[in-house]
Parts: sequence; structure tokens; C-alpha cells
Amino acid sequence: MKLLLVEDNLEDADFLAASLRRHNVSDIELSHVTSLKDAVHQLRMQRFDVVLLDLHLPDGSGMECVDAIQAAEGSVPIVVLSGQDDEEFALSILNKGVQDYLVKWEGETRAILRAIRYAAERKRSELRLNYLAQYDSLTEIPNRQHFQEQLERATARARREGRKVALFFLDLDQFKVVNDTLGHDAGDNLLREMAVRLRRSIRAGDVLARLGGDEFAVLLEGLDGALETETLAKGILEVIAEPFYIDGREISVTTSIGITIYPNDNSNVTTLLKNADIAMYQAKEQGRNNFKFFTERMHAELVEYHRLEHEIRDAISGEMFNLVFQPKVNLVTRKLQGLEALLRWEHPERGAISPTEFIPVAEQSGHIIPLGHWVLEEVCRTLNRWQAANLPLVPVSINVSARQFQQPDFHRRVADVLRHQDVGPNLVELELTEGLLMEDTESAQNALQHLKDTGVRVSIDDFGTGHSCLNYLRRFPIDVLKIDRSFINDIDYCEDSQVIVEAIISLARSLRLNTVAEGVETRGQLNFLVERGCIVAQGFLFGQPLLAREVMPFLEDLIEDAPGFATARLPVSKKRA
Ligand code: C2E
Ligand code: MG
Ligand code: MG
Repeated sequence: MKLLLVEDNLEDADFLAASLRRHNVSDIELSHVTSLKDAVHQLRMQRFDVVLLDLHLPDGSGMECVDAIQAAEGSVPIVVLSGQDDEEFALSILNKGVQDYLVKWEGETRAILRAIRYAAERKRSELRLNYLAQYDSLTEIPNRQHFQEQLERATARARREGRKVALFFLDLDQFKVVNDTLGHDAGDNLLREMAVRLRRSIRAGDVLARLGGDEFAVLLEGLDGALETETLAKGILEVIAEPFYIDGREISVTTSIGITIYPNDNSNVTTLLKNADIAMYQAKEQGRNNFKFFTERMHAELVEYHRLEHEIRDAISGEMFNLVFQPKVNLVTRKLQGLEALLRWEHPERGAISPTEFIPVAEQSGHIIPLGHWVLEEVCRTLNRWQAANLPLVPVSINVSARQFQQPDFHRRVADVLRHQDVGPNLVELELTEGLLMEDTESAQNALQHLKDTGVRVSIDDFGTGHSCLNYLRRFPIDVLKIDRSFINDIDYCEDSQVIVEAIISLARSLRLNTVAEGVETRGQLNFLVERGCIVAQGFLFGQPLLAREVMPFLEDLIEDAPGFATARLPVSKKRA
């Protein structure tokens, strides 16, 4: 055991050396210095197991001495040598990096030795605990807490020096799959290997940490620019994409990286981590295995998101939404065939906000669940009112978002509302999007079957814009395909769109599904559709969405059975202010 004695009083030093000699203590090697300056120098030169420290030195006294030793070597145990008069002080600093104290002259050698050994032992367990609190036990790299501390320090340094810090937030793309299919041990091994590879692909001074689960973070200081950051990100993606060999199996995974730069993006440590996390999600959304910078624009989007999110909540409770109904016209009989309910939000300050703007926010925040439920109820209430007025009715279609459809009790809610409002299920059609049915085929299939069992009809909205796999069309009980507006829009001048629309119509026919063309605006588009045998269309050519009371005359028209909505209105569209 190597002891460093820091003591300017030579008598005291000799006493200690002599008593150790007297007891023939052979495993102790004693070095002696008389000032803090020399002690620091020694600590930098070699490793000591314990420092015996006098608190009255020529170049420092009291806590100063302890601080100087700790600054030079944080992991060495310190035993303070106190005189009888400052024993109380020695006692008071026991928890401040000092492991023990000895009152000079008092101790027997055996007691001195014991104190030295205990001090070493205590320091070891203290360091161990410290390590456990700072490091991830699986990968043995720093954990989230340690990372945050490092980040805090790095940003403070960067602030002083006017430099930048980059923060990478990594998330494995297929970790859940590995865990689920190969087991947790394989998952653990993969994470360990990940840590090794990441360590190798960053620079020596960079901090790599595991934040939890399959999330890692890298802290980079002293960057020259975005280009360097990008190069590093690309390097990491490449290294991770190479196959791993886990338990004799070859596993291929990819990762998504979100990058934020201090101080460009934000100045507070928690926000930095959050920003990097958001950027990481964007990277995932854009197809995984890539990286994405968090930019000011993203930040502004975020602020807007939160604002909308709050306002949607208020608007739901304040009943500030309403519905409009867009006519669907039968191109053969030229009559009103159905209506599509569309949400409208008249914001008290900002005016009308488009559903394309607020629906995604409502989806992400979960507000779409109560909002969607309100739409369903409102449509049924309206149908009920028309029914009570003895009007002939046409089916009303309702847009259903992914979150709603995925609610396990969605079909029950639909059935409840229908029953409660005394509306026949044949009067309601639910519009789902393609992506929804592709995501998880089996549970989607079940959910869809449950819905069909309630008696409502189901259509696929925006058909042609989602996945190209058409398999689900055969398996799923679907009634209608709605050809996306973008194809209809291009028909007049784009041959590809013509081919696609034609193909969808004939595909639907062979699967015995109806087609509805969305967004018909011109006579040319209408003629094309009629020629190709599309039966139903909707669009500004036939009319803008109408308020419920504005729809009533058109329903009344249906009673007379002539000339019908479409003949009466075609081709002039009724514009709403
Ligand atoms: P969507 O279901 O495809 O609805 C059709 C959209 O096309 C409506 O926009 C409608 O006003 C617009 N449109 C109709 N005819 C024409 C036309 O001839 N030309 C052009 N350029 N546009 C036309 P809106 O009302 O802005 O709704 C946008 C989207 O928001 C809807 O697309 C739908 O996905 C969603 N949405 C609307 N209401 C609801 C709702 O109650 N629940 C859910 N989940 N989504 C809704
Ligand atoms: Mg729709
Ligand atoms: Mg649509």
C-alpha cells in the first residue's frame, strides 16, 4: 500500500515513520512531502492508496488542503491529521471527501494502520457506488444522469469559449423486434455490441451514454461545423448497419439519429435533449436509418403544435367545432347519393382553421378521440333531425382517424351512438385511410369486421396515395374506394393520372366495390369519369360543403324524384362565401 504523507512538521512526520518501522509494517511504502504543491506534483506522478494530510501547511490550510488533493486526484482516500485543538473541525469535514482523521500523537500504530486501511476500503465502496450511480450496468458506458451532468458542463464551457456542442440522440429502429423474436438476452447482447461500435465510431473526448432502453446519446464538443457533425452521423449509421453476430445469428438493425446544436437550437439542457429526441422521431418518420437536425423551423412548428393542441382542447369543451356536408352525386341518375361530413373550426381570432392543419395535431395529442366521437354523435343527431322532419335520407360518411379506429371499443361506440340516436346503420359510412389497414393486418381485420357487424358501410379514403400493396382489398370487408383528389385533379393534362384512375375504377369493379371520385372541379374531369364508368363523384363542381340546414332543400328535392339535385345544379357550382 502506497501512502503519501503531507506534513510540514518534521517531528510529526518522523514519529509516524518511526512507529510504522517499529511495527515492521512491510506492505506500506511511505512517501513524504511538506507542501500542497509537492503533494499535487506527487499525485500526478504516481498512484497512491491513501493520503495522510496535515491541515496546516505552508501553502494552505483547512478545507483548502482537502480541495487541493481532491482536485489533483479525486479517487484517492484522504485521512486528515489533526491536532487536539482542531479535532472538531476534522470531524466536521468527514463527509466532504475526507474518509477519516487521526489525532496526532494519540494513536497507537495499530490504530493508525486500521484507520488507513478503513479509509482505503471506504473510498473503494464510495467510488463503486458512484460508478453505479453514473454508469449503465449493462453496457458500462455513462448513464442518463452522468450524461446530463456532462452536457451541463459542456454547454457551460461552450458558453464561455463561444463554441458549439452537438447532441446526438440515437434510437435503434428494430430493437423491439429483436427482443420479441430472439429474446431479452439477445437484446442485451445487441445493446452491448451497439455500445462498443458507437464508442469506436466517435472521437476520444466525446461522451457516449445509454439513456435507457435502446436509446443512446453522444455529446460532441469543439465542432467546426455542421458538415463535421453530418460526417460523424453518417459514420455511425454505417457502422450500425453492418450485421451484428449475436448468439451465432446474424442480425441487421439500423438506427435513427436526432441532432441538436447548442446554442443554435436552445440553451437549456433538458430542452436540448427533448429537441434531439424530436429530431430523432422526424428521422424515423422519414424512413428510419437516417439522421435529422433539429432546426429553428422545427422549433417554431413545435410551438405552433402546442398552441393548437391547447386550443383544440378548449374548442372541444367550448363546442366551437361544427360540421359541413359535401354532396356526393350519382353520375348516372344525377341525384344526391350521399353526403360527407367535414369538420369546421371557426377560431375566434384566427378565423377558419383547415382540418388538414388541426386534424394531425388532434391525432398526435389524442384529442381526436373525443373530437371524433363528437363528429359521430353530431352526424347521427343531424340524421335524426332530418328523419323527424320526414325528409328522405342519404347515407352520410364520416372520416375516421387512425387513433379512433385503433380504440378497441370503437365499434361498440358506433353501435351505441346509432342506437341512441335511433339511426339505421345503413345511413352511416365510415371513411378509413389505407395506411390504417396496412399497419397491423390481423387486428385491423378484426376491428374492421366488428365495424361491419354493426351494419355500417366502410370506404377507403384517399385511395391510391398510401401503400401499393393491394392485398388487403381482397381480405377486408370494404364497400367503397374513394379515388384521391390528386389523381382527379391531374386528369385533364396528365396521362399517368388518367391511367391510374382508369385502373382504380376497373380494379374496384372486379372486386365489386363502388368508386367515388373526390375533388371533381371541371366538366372535363366529369366527362372522363362518366366515360370510364365511375358512378359517384364529389367535388366543388357539384357544390361546396354545406351547413346542415342548407342541405335540407336538396333532400326535399329527392321527394319529388325529379329533376334531382345534380340536374338542378349542374354544371354551375354553388359557391359559398
Ligand atoms: P377528405 O376526407 O379527403 O375530405 C375531402 C376534402 O377535400 C375536404 O377538405 C373537402 O372540402 C375537399 N374538397 C372537396 N371537393 C373538392 C374539390 O373539388 N376541390 C378541392 N381542391 N378540394 C375539395 P377539408 O374539409 O379541408 O378536409 C380535409 C381533410 O381533413 C379530409 O380529407 C379529412 O381527411 C380530414 N377531416 C375532415 N373532417 C374530418 C373529421 O371529422 N374527422 C377526421 N378524422 N378527419 C377529418
Ligand atoms: Mg374523407
Ligand atoms: Mg379524401
